[in-house]
Amino acid sequence: MTKWFDTNYHHLVPEIGADASFDLARTEFADRVREAAADGYVTRPVVVGPVTLLALSVAAQDAPEGFAPLDVIDRLVPVYVSLLAELKAAGAEWVQLDEPGLVSDNLAVDRDTLVATAGRVYEALAAATDRPEIFVALSYGDSRSAAATLAATGVEAVGLDLVRGILPDLSSVPADVTVVGGVVDGRSIWRTDLDRALASLETLAAGVPGAVAVTTTTSLQHLPHDTALETELDPELVSWLAFADQRVDEVRVLAAGLTQGRATVSAEIQAAQDARARRAAHAGVVDDTIRARVARVTTDDTTRVASGVRDEAQRESLGLPLLPTTTIGSFPQTTEVRRARAANVRGELSDAEYEAALRAEIARVIEVQETAGLDVLVHGEPERNDMVQYFAELLDGFSVTEQGWVQSYGTRCTRPSILWGDVSRPKPMTVALSSYAASLTSKPVKGMLTGPVTILAWSFVRDDLPLGQVADQVALALRDEVQDLEAAGIGIIQVDEPALRELLPLASDDHSAYLAWSTRSFRLATSGVRPSTQIHTHLCYSEFGTVIRAIDDLDADVTSIEAARSRMEVVDDLARVGFSRGVGPGVYDIHSPRVPSAAELASSVSVAAASVPLDKLWINPDCGLKTRGYAEVVPALTRMVDAAREVRSSV
Ligand code: GLN
Ligand code: ZN
Repeated sequence: MTKWFDTNYHHLVPEIGADASFDLARTEFADRVREAAADGYVTRPVVVGPVTLLALSVAAQDAPEGFAPLDVIDRLVPVYVSLLAELKAAGAEWVQLDEPGLVSDNLAVDRDTLVATAGRVYEALAAATDRPEIFVALSYGDSRSAAATLAATGVEAVGLDLVRGILPDLSSVPADVTVVGGVVDGRSIWRTDLDRALASLETLAAGVPGAVAVTTTTSLQHLPHDTALETELDPELVSWLAFADQRVDEVRVLAAGLTQGRATVSAEIQAAQDARARRAAHAGVVDDTIRARVARVTTDDTTRVASGVRDEAQRESLGLPLLPTTTIGSFPQTTEVRRARAANVRGELSDAEYEAALRAEIARVIEVQETAGLDVLVHGEPERNDMVQYFAELLDGFSVTEQGWVQSYGTRCTRPSILWGDVSRPKPMTVALSSYAASLTSKPVKGMLTGPVTILAWSFVRDDLPLGQVADQVALALRDEVQDLEAAGIGIIQVDEPALRELLPLASDDHSAYLAWSTRSFRLATSGVRPSTQIHTHLCYSEFGTVIRAIDDLDADVTSIEAARSRMEVVDDLARVGFSRGVGPGVYDIHSPRVPSAAELASSVSVAAASVPLDKLWINPDCGLKTRGYAEVVPALTRMVDAAREVRSSV
């Protein structure tokens, strides 16, 4: 499972062998077209295009060295030809093939190869005689390098993302190809500046020989449904927003403006402009104190003393054994904890009673860890509904929706918070519960925070300030929290950045700027502490690729990282870029309910011990234990500690 481009939506990664053969095994695409037709709707089925499908696949484990799934594309094309015929027979007039792979530099195959392959593949698809009209959508990024090639293949329409991308020169596009302008953002929730969007459509229409159509940049799956459902949100904030249903209406308005003239939609254009103006002037959108604080940040604020100096200070202050054992933060979110939270939200459980329930859970988590024999404990995060929303609720500048669910995978959804104003921290957020946990044990307890990049990645973020500046505001709020934790006697503080890789821009030209601001904001959050305070970070979703160097730039003392599923490869990658700090490659996969055997854990710990210098190695699971049950967690952690002790005693 991995994330779909730079979104928080997950997909399963196909594994393809050199001997793969393809078949149209299911008829559900055509069945659904027929079903809709029976109800009187002509639908446009949307299918992942063949090039993107293989570009997102990985070679099966037994595939020969050097094999890439894209090598078998010629075997896949005939299946798409049959699919086209089936869809046509079912009554589809158009089919949409999504090819976002062609706008990404972050895939295993380089973009030029993908575009050249797509040119060939789409000529073959277009040549099929029995098919609907083909619309190739190039979403999620800048489609400049792919658009002209695709438009010359014989397909009937090509779609561009004109929010993320720049308008390419389309003068050579054949006159019978429709260019579809994605000018309504499928990724953000802010009302479209209809004036600007219409202007960009007019420019597009003037530059292409054929017809122009209007659409959203991507599918609407990344947005909640309807702002009208947000009855608890400030109506003023709601009036700045457009969720999926509102996006559809924006598309309709823009199409009318383009075909019937601006005057026909002048009222809608004005309303959109008024909303933007009200938003810009609203209290809290710009806070001069916060802006001034961000402007005063210097390199000193983002730099700690050399890691060697810190190592020594921490060795003295923490006195940890070789191969210290710890966890990533969360413990099982039990039904009781969830129930208590829900009851507290409904007003059936008082704040004091809820707090007592949380403290009882924390005491249990500390006891479980003491019994298992872990060296660095956590409080277990029972108070967190979600690792981002929890902080969004406590920070100024954010609002939380009631119905703003978006699909994460299958039936799983997340409810991103809305970051609409300048961000600050009215009061300490985690100090009381962390201190409580620390008071229950003589072992060190890690403070636990979510990093600035992850907070942005899993929220809907304002579009009127560069992301790097928003990140700095969040980082300063976290910096205050980190310092308050330190002042409360918490000597180890973990700042999670599991989404560091996720926000990596799809175009390689944009990588260095992103990596510069993202790692800087992490350092801004974490560099205000004494050398003796140990900063940890946690990253998951492996496949770090180009961001591997950035892990070093975070300058954390210890990095725990998902590794068990990738057979510890990440450890070698880190060594290759000269990473020399503490590292905790996850020794078992927490995504599975299976409890690893003692032998397996011993073997993972030895593999880790063979690839990381022993004085840098930490022993921990892959990720948080939130989704597991105590029945799995207790034996797994006990065995993990035993395995670490075994290796420890043998050196
Ligand atoms: N500290 C978080 C937890 O343990 C980290 C979660 C994550 O990596 N996504 O749940
Ligand atoms: Zn994780």
